[in-house]
Amino acid sequence: MESLKGKTALITGSSRGIGRGCALVLARCGCNIVVNYVESLEKAQTLIKETRELGVESLSVRADVSREQDVKLLIESTVNTFGGIDILVNNAGIHQHLKTWELSLEDWNRVIATNLTGVFLCSREAVIHMKKVRSGSIINISSCVAFTGTDHEIHYASSKAGIVGFTKSLALEAAPYGIRVNAVSPGFFATDMVLPLITDEERKALEATVPLGRLGTPEEIGDAVAFLASDRARYITGETLHVNGGVIMY
Ligand code: NAP
Repeated sequence: MESLKGKTALITGSSRGIGRGCALVLARCGCNIVVNYVESLEKAQTLIKETRELGVESLSVRADVSREQDVKLLIESTVNTFGGIDILVNNAGIHQHLKTWELSLEDWNRVIATNLTGVFLCSREAVIHMKKVRSGSIINISSCVAFTGTDHEIHYASSKAGIVGFTKSLALEAAPYGIRVNAVSPGFFATDMVLPLITDEERKALEATVPLGRLGTPEEIGDAVAFLASDRARYITGETLHVNGGVIMY
């Protein structure tokens, strides 16, 4: 993706999993990378090394996306280091398997704060800079459960459905400034969010439900993100791209 060369991309929650996959793909496309993490310092450092070996500049910043002051520092560090922010991937997310009647208000608030309020805080701070240069691309990671519902994590599904409405609304507000806002909705991916919860047998059963016959890899979300961030998607905004091996078709 030629148009991505030299751009600055911040990927929230990129120490592991899908965020890491997005960072690696964008680095291969020539983007300078900001790695964001909370707990996984060593993994963030490894990713910094890997991205630099690809010939791009990178920076890691510890910031909890649900905390306003952390997010302000995250965006400030990005802009101070690279002179701006061209691409924001709102990827950081958490989940928790509980029925609605088992959820405390604290559980609900924690998931919404990270998965939805974090998207708002990071987007707000980034868009302030993107508006000044009248260009930018924001890509929000939603989930297939935003569209199907789920019987074991209503707060997670609600946060991911909220992201879809958020994406369309910000796309409308930001379009006059040359800023595009889209979402990617993953199906089932082989990351820490899924693998520790299932046995090998359950993984096989899950894979059998996917028309393409396997779980996705983090870099397959990275490819979708790179496409949406690039000039090849220059006429696409407010859209959700479903990347799920055909497990749900619309
Ligand atoms: P993961 O392997 O559990 O990784 C989560 C990442 O988010 C880690 O890098 C973690 O950083 C970071 N993070 C967590 N809380 C954070 C916070 N408050 N502030 C900043 N970073 C935070 O998850 P994943 O599977 O890669 O999921 C990535 C995104 O894809 C999530 O939004 C998830 O909902 C979505 N998704 C995943 C799947 C799937 O099948 N895996 C399906 C649909 C949607 P530290 O380790 O440094 O704390």
